[in-house]
Amino acid sequence: MTDRNQQLFDRAAQVIPGGVNSPVRAFRAVGGTPRFVQRAQGAYFWDANGQKYIDYIGSWGPMILGHGHPAVLEAVQKAALDGFSFGAPTEREIELAEEILKHVPSMEMVRLVSSGTEAGMSALRLARGATGRSKIIKFEGCYHGHADALLVKAGSGLATFGNPTSAGVPPEVVQHTLVLEYNNVEQLEEAFKLHGKELACVMIEPIAGNMNFVRASVPFMKRCRELCTEHGALFVFDEVMTGFRVALGSAQSVYAQLIPGFQPDLTVLGKVIGGGMPLAAFGGPREIMRQLAPTGPVYQAGTLSGNPVATACGLATLREIAKPGFWDALSSKTQSLVDGLKGAAAKAGVPFAADCQGGMFGFFLLPELPQNYAKVMTSDSPKFNKLFHGLLDRGVYIAPALYEAGFVSAAHSEADIAATVQAASEVFATL
Ligand code: PMP
Repeated sequence: MTDRNQQLFDRAAQVIPGGVNSPVRAFRAVGGTPRFVQRAQGAYFWDANGQKYIDYIGSWGPMILGHGHPAVLEAVQKAALDGFSFGAPTEREIELAEEILKHVPSMEMVRLVSSGTEAGMSALRLARGATGRSKIIKFEGCYHGHADALLVKAGSGLATFGNPTSAGVPPEVVQHTLVLEYNNVEQLEEAFKLHGKELACVMIEPIAGNMNFVRASVPFMKRCRELCTEHGALFVFDEVMTGFRVALGSAQSVYAQLIPGFQPDLTVLGKVIGGGMPLAAFGGPREIMRQLAPTGPVYQAGTLSGNPVATACGLATLREIAKPGFWDALSSKTQSLVDGLKGAAAKAGVPFAADCQGGMFGFFLLPELPQNYAKVMTSDSPKFNKLFHGLLDRGVYIAPALYEAGFVSAAHSEADIAATVQAASEVFATL
């Protein structure tokens, strides 16, 4: 049989670097041929060979309702008939802004943009503009998009700032970015002692989905908040992945239940709020958001910002996930997947730890959940690659890298979960 995926990949590699438009799609970490998607419906997609897969990526988070949800499709089709893009304001942008603010009370105003990278980069500029400071803290293993100042790995000590993780980023551009270990309270305190008065912000993934699934511990989160407040730095939650994915109120609502009165200063959103269309956002208190152009001195703009088709898609998605019972059903499905995988691994004697919140999950081939990036990286990657391909061969598509989270949608059925656990049992037995 000719492998259409391979044919397409070879053809793609002639005209697109690495054959893909975003690196992790290329299967570099796990090896093998990327699956070219032909179409998707509900919890499934079909590749170029006509092979069907249960989809646990969901476009890396956005597809919380599954693919082709009728209400979302209808909203998108209707919006498209009215026009693709105007470069002038529309009522739907207000509706989407109001819908977002209704569920995330730390935000009083929001600006819509087109990608998570753009949102994170703009939030960072705003934090610097609003505080008049340059230095920032980020944490190892957290990804905030590919803006220059955020593509940084740790320097050699707390007094030295980071090194670029990508060619093409001048060291001078990251000289203000300090990279600390996630969940390390001591390092955080030390960094504030040294640089507190010069810090514009601390940016964090509250539940880090770019090192699989690692929660910020409650004491760590609390200390971040306290130190930011004490030193006049802004605490920026990057909820591009967790926003409207781990709870209707996003990860900050999860922490507000654990830490009374807890709120970040700025929030960065993406993925789910666009329902699969290019849409992202950042927001916070009115007085800070008013620093943005045209009311303030911090410049930010976009030709396609608040795009009418994307906002229709996002708005329809948010209205569906705000319906009664949605989160209980999604959370219990995700939990049953995680419990099933844990049980299957235990039966096969495979070291395995897993965690989930709402419709987001992660698992590690480790005896316990890691608390930081260094621990995540002790995972057995040859074993993970075997698991990945074993599942893929059995029609289950998980992220093709061990440092990526997974996503369950409302379209996944209990039968899908059971089939996934069965497939995993078979593969665990071979590890
Ligand atoms: N922040 C986080 C937490 C993300 O997970 C991502 C993307 N995976 C981004 C920012 C960047 O978003 P985008 O890919 O839309 O630019």
